Amino acid sequence: MIPMVDLQRQYHDLRGEIDAAIAEVLESTRFILGPNVQALESELAEYLGVTHAVTCASGTDALHLALRAADLGPGDEIITTPFTFIATAEAIRYVGAEPVFVDIDPRTFNIDPEAVAAAITPRTRAILPVHLFGQPADMPALTRLAEDHLLLLIEDCAQSFGAHISGVQTGSATAFGCFSFFPSKNLGGYGDGGLVTTNCTPAAERLLKLRNHGSKVRYHHDEIGYNSRLDEIQAAILRVKLKRIDEFNQARRRVAARYAEVLEDLDVEIPYEDGIGVHVYHQYTVLTDHREAIMKALQAADIGHAVYYPIPLHRQAAFDRREKAPPSLPVSESVAARCLSLPVFPELEDAQIDFIGERIRAALG
Ligand SMILES: *Cc1c(COP(=O)(O)O)cnc(C)c1O
Repeated sequence: MIPMVDLQRQYHDLRGEIDAAIAEVLESTRFILGPNVQALESELAEYLGVTHAVTCASGTDALHLALRAADLGPGDEIITTPFTFIATAEAIRYVGAEPVFVDIDPRTFNIDPEAVAAAITPRTRAILPVHLFGQPADMPALTRLAEDHLLLLIEDCAQSFGAHISGVQTGSATAFGCFSFFPSKNLGGYGDGGLVTTNCTPAAERLLKLRNHGSKVRYHHDEIGYNSRLDEIQAAILRVKLKRIDEFNQARRRVAARYAEVLEDLDVEIPYEDGIGVHVYHQYTVLTDHREAIMKALQAADIGHAVYYPIPLHRQAAFDRREKAPPSLPVSESVAARCLSLPVFPELEDAQIDFIGERIRAALG
């Protein structure tokens, strides 16, 4: 059996440190907004190279809080990708703004800057790229567009913790970076968690209030906020894992390199690195015209696999606008029909990758 992600292996490797960190929180009985959250926030700010790191309850909340802090709302259009997890666009709807879906690059699956340029209207206020599967989006091109059209850039970094462009971390050089600490993410806790980064002090102050009922001073509420805090147990676990994130991401790159060798002469398109930034392989996603056959073979061999994502967001009922037909976004649709994600996690062994490769080879006849 080879799972998509083996969280147990990592827990066993780190057990001593993690159990001790959890026990310390339990003993202290400080569970909410205590010393671990504070320490984690400075460690995250330092690692990512930002002035402010504000943790919150999930990656979805990170996006929502960032959009609120940016004062985006009804009448505003936000250009984003349809080839992502729904949370990216859900957050846009939470604040009453309109997601405008544009097509993706067929090789990186990231938002296509030319498509973004073509979709800008007088109502456009922001661009929300996703660094999909761990590969940084084309930030140089998106930054130029944002500057030329006075748009905000808000990054969905849920899959890209530790990915960078020439040393500049994703989420560190725009208005906001939004991260998730969901257990299976590159930096994952043992429950839900999220993070917003910013270099703008007033925005950080706003985020600190929004995550805690609109309050800076207890029982004084300046605006309507949320209960969206990271808890101390998650923060303590994340502090242990943050120390190893570079090692984990390097191991993911090793897995990807091994897959590339093993799948080289097969009829599947392996992930393309465009060289703009460093890919941290949150997912290892291939394109194939033989998805059903490969899935059947992997299933039979008890090997994890998944289709991320089978239906692009512009085709989801939740975003189906009755008055308008969904736009045709042929690249997203074709990638959604052909993509297949294979197991990837830092502890995946070469022999396991070779076995997965053999099963795929057999399936392709
Ligand atoms: C996981 C994910 C989110 C949401 O994060 P949660 O912590 O699960 O709320 C948002 N966007 C993308 C691209 C994701 O992969």
